[in-house]
This record gives sequence, C-alpha cells and structure tokens, in this order.
Amino acid sequence: MVQEETHHMYKTLCNANGSITKRILNDLLAKRGIEKDDVRLEPLMSLLQDYGNDEDIALEHFIEMAAPCHLIMERIIRGKLAIPDFASFSQKITEIFNRVAPNEGGEVAKYIPELGRVNPDQFAISVCTIDGQRFNIGDHQEKFCVQSTCKPINYCIALELNSLEKVHEHIGREPSGHSFNEITLNRDSLPHNPMINAGAIMCASLIKPDEPLSDRFNHLMGTWESLCAGKKPQFNNAIYLSEKSNCDRNMALTYFMREVGAFPENINIDQVIDFYFQACSIEVNSYEFSTIVANLANAGICTFTNEKIFSNESVKHCLSLMSSCGMYDFSGEFAFKVGLPAKSGVSGVVILVIPNLMGIAIWSPRLDVMGNSVRGVAFCEELVREFNFHIYDNIVHNSEKIDPRLQKSQFDVSLVTMLIAASSSGDIDEVRRILSYGVDVNAKDYDGRTALHLASEEGHEDVVAFLLSMGADKTAKDRWGNMPDVVSNSSKSYDENVSSAKNDVESKLSNIIDEASSVVPLKQPA
Ligand code: GLU
Repeated sequence: MVQEETHHMYKTLCNANGSITKRILNDLLAKRGIEKDDVRLEPLMSLLQDYGNDEDIALEHFIEMAAPCHLIMERIIRGKLAIPDFASFSQKITEIFNRVAPNEGGEVAKYIPELGRVNPDQFAISVCTIDGQRFNIGDHQEKFCVQSTCKPINYCIALELNSLEKVHEHIGREPSGHSFNEITLNRDSLPHNPMINAGAIMCASLIKPDEPLSDRFNHLMGTWESLCAGKKPQFNNAIYLSEKSNCDRNMALTYFMREVGAFPENINIDQVIDFYFQACSIEVNSYEFSTIVANLANAGICTFTNEKIFSNESVKHCLSLMSSCGMYDFSGEFAFKVGLPAKSGVSGVVILVIPNLMGIAIWSPRLDVMGNSVRGVAFCEELVREFNFHIYDNIVHNSEKIDPRLQKSQFDVSLVTMLIAASSSGDIDEVRRILSYGVDVNAKDYDGRTALHLASEEGHEDVVAFLLSMGADKTAKDRWGNMPDVVSNSSKSYDENVSSAKNDVESKLSNIIDEASSVVPLKQPA
C-alpha cells in the first residue's frame, strides 16, 4: 500500500517516457528553494552524479535511489514545506531588496578602525526557512564580522551551561534605554540585559570560566559550527586586534562591573574581555548567518543535521530578549513597527527571526545614529508591510498582507469545497459565512457542479434562493451537461424564491458583515 503510494508520488515527476531525469529533479528543487547540495539529499545526489542532465532514469530505479531520503523527498514533491510557493516568496524578497538598495543613508562604524575600511555599498539578504529552503540576493558570499550579533548566541550558550537563575543573578532583562556601550548598570548594579555590551561581557564570564581560554574559544567556535550545519565559521584576527587596541570603553565597563561586584566570584576579567572580543570577531557571510538564525526559528534544532543545539527554553528566553532589547535604543520602535525578534551589530548586520518559519540575515554596512544598519532596518519594515509576519498581524482584520505559509491554492480550493459541501447539506449559515470571503458563488467542483446544483438536488430551498440572490447561475452546466434543477425541486416559484431571499438577505446583511469581520481573510501570494 505504502509502496503504491510512493510509486504514485514519484510518478507525478515523470516525463513523457515515464522516466525521471536529473534536470526534472533539479528544476523541482530550485522551485522549492532546496539546494542541490543539501546534506539531506546527499545519498540520492551522490548516486545521480554520473547521470547526464537529460538522461532518462527508470521510475523504479529512481525510487530505489531516493529511498534513503524518502521523507524529505516526499515533502519536496508534495510542497509540504514552510513556504509552499517559494518562487513567489523569493520574487517578493527580490522586489523589497530592489526597493531598499537605493537607500545610501548612514555611515560605516569607524570606532573600530578595521570596520571603517569595508566597502559601504555592499548589501546582502539571505533567507533560510526551518525546512531548509534558501534564498540569497546581493553580496551574500562576502564575509563580515558578527559584532553584537554574537550576543544572542553567547546568551544561549551561557543558558545551556548555567541555570536560568544563575545567569540572571548577573544580568537583568530590561531594555536599558541607553546606547549599547553606555557605562551604566541597573538598580541592582547589574547589566540591563545580555544584548548590550555590559550584558554580553557578563555572558562571556559565564561560559566555562574555569577552563583555559583556548578551550573556551573552541567551545564557542564548535557551537557556531553546529549552528552553521557543520560549516566552520572564520575568525577575523585583524578585527580582533583592532578592537582590542581600541577598547577603553569596554574595559571601563568591565572594571566598573568588577568594582560593584557584578561578576561571579574568581573571574579573570582580562580573559573575559578577550573572550568577548573574540566572539565579536567571528566571521560569516549572510548565507551562513541565515542558517544559524534558522536554528533560533526552529527551537534550537538544526534543520540540516537534525542536531539539537539549544534547548527550547534557551531559545525562548533569547527570542524574548531579542524582541525587547535587540536593536539598541531603537528596540521599542522596532518591536512596534516590525514586531519580530532581531539583533543588530555595528558591522551592519541585522538578524531577524520569524519563529517557526525562518531566519533572515541582512547585511549592509552603513549605520544610522543608533548603530543599526540603515538598509537592514528598512528591509525589515518593508518585509512586514508585505507579509503578515508581525507578531500581532493575526489580530488585525481584513489584512491585505500575504501569508506565504499557505499553499498557493489552498485557501480558495478549501473554501470552494466547503461552499459546495455546505450547500449540499443545507447549512445556510455556513454558505453565507463562506460567501462572505468573496468566494465565487459559481465555482465548480471537479464534476463541474456548482453550489446551486447541490442545493437544488438536495431540495434546500432556502439555500437555493440565497445562492440565486447572490448571483448563482441557474444555467451552469455540469460535466454531464445538466443544469441545476432549481424550479422542479423548489415548492415556490423562482421569482418568489428570489424576492423572499432578497428580504432575507437584506435583513441579515449586517449579520453577515459581523460574521465576516470575525474571520481574517488572507491574501494569496501573487
Ligand atoms: N565589539 C563591539 C563593541 O563591543 C560590538 C558592538 C556592537 O556591534 O554593538 O563595541
């Protein structure tokens, strides 16, 4: 049985010869946003290596080769992925990229001299969904140092190694309302939160403080490597040295925290500050960073390797603090406008998490006065203008925004099916509710039958009258050439039906509007 189903599923890929080719598979992957060298497809791809692009592969043989990756193949073929219509989604991201690119506002950070040397015009966006669908545009292969975007990762690592209580014995959870490197602590003489320098330096003190610095660094890099699905991130020594020789402010913060007793006992603060600079000097490109951020969208699990890197709780705490404190002293405004957890760094990177859906990395070096990438913020604002990603979008009625989580035709098709079923069973309230979405009253099922065919066949006079009043076509033909038997199945004349339905409709119009406004109609991807 399962075999038959599998056979049927793969058969939908076949060409006219009843075979599958590498090109067919590659086209399908491209459409779904899955890369050819996705590690989950490796067993199949290595067997396909020797085939020509258009060489026919017998269906049964292909199924055999695909067996080790059957689960992911099933999802790819059936489009059961986080963003079913990935091509339309990517198109929209491209449009946003093009709208934002002309914005040349802001200045590259210069207080770390090495940062001041980057080409300010660079701009990259990378998306990685929790199902491993990817889209990249712009300078996505260019490396940049992560700077402050190491802070959420360090916070998660600290939470994995210590209890929540222990971590927050030393760090608060409130936005500071001050700039990221302000020499200020909260009322308990602790850093305000882990997303600003003081808190991040404190986090560094909570990561394996008893081990040699080399082991601590290896632990850090090992975690980044896991987050990046096994790809080693780089370390930019020039940035590290540049930051180390311009570190008065961070040193001042560290000594201040030591003076007031904020650190755990027996902490070597020289090592702590060094470790913090090392974390800021990790180097990735936006493609890699989107893989890393997708782990945060996916409750700490790497989609590609299935490794559980952070606990659900650590990720939840981290996303909460990214939401309230991640964008320097623009965090409140960002939470209001964009409504998503994010973190920015002075290298011009912004990481954005859409929980349970995707991670996005945006990189463009010019910063606004608060230290956020100008294009990064503009992209996030445009994104939520287009898609219903803001955390509270789901309570806004009549949203015009796109929900890319839906199958392209899922919404319409299910409504048509529901309309026809409700008409057949005579459930007039349901018929009204469904039509309130703007579904075509003359939509047909696969037999060419309309709601009117079913309602009249089953003798539901009230439904028939209502459908006619809504413009149902009594001459519509099903695939056998039959029209709805409106007159013979109705005890009243057609005109009587229409006039009573009109009265009925008018008196209940306000109910329909009320009902309609309690449901959010969702716009389809174009
Ligand atoms: N390494 C930078 C510093 O400590 C990080 C600043 C940032 O990206 O917010 O100043």
